Amino acid sequence: MPLGDILISQTEIRRRVEVLGRQIGEAIPPGDLHVIATLKGALFFAVDLVRALGREATLGFITASSYGSGTESSGKVLLHQEDIGEPAGRHLLVVDDIIDTGRTLLAVTESLRAHRPLSVRTAVLIGKPARREAAIEADYVGFTIDDIFVVGYGLDYDEKYRTLPDIHFFSP
Ligand code: 5GP
Ligand code: MG
Repeated sequence: MPLGDILISQTEIRRRVEVLGRQIGEAIPPGDLHVIATLKGALFFAVDLVRALGREATLGFITASSYGSGTESSGKVLLHQEDIGEPAGRHLLVVDDIIDTGRTLLAVTESLRAHRPLSVRTAVLIGKPARREAAIEADYVGFTIDDIFVVGYGLDYDEKYRTLPDIHFFSP
């Protein structure tokens, strides 16, 4: 059975996301805050995080795909930006599920900077520092894990397991 044990429980996720949200909400200077969540993986994290910010924020979405259908990155990052909203002149918070090689977060933040936001910050649920290739670190990281593949709480394998409330080990 490829779906493994729970690595991070829904209780741990809830506690951590609440602390992180409050911390981010306080750290970003006053002014318009626009949150851009990457679909689909960061959806669950983003909806929990924005409600913990403790301040008004508008919401946009960007679709970034780098993984094909397996557990290895294809290396190319495709972006769909129809629903990013209005980043110009606002503080941006980019919310992603995982920073792995870093290619996705780098492509997303570089592309958003072209819209002339006031500032750009990044929050990821999970960091995998062992795998970094691109020159980028997230400003806020929920959990740091080893080089293992995980699913649940938005994270998929071939579009499956996203709806699991906990984060599980996975080995195809
Ligand atoms: P990067 O561009 O940083 O290499 O890849 C980041 C993307 O790869 C994440 O947004 C996520 O979609 C996918 N990814 C990386 N590690 C995992 C993992 O352990 N589980 C799942 N489900 N996706 C992952
Ligand atoms: Mg992703």
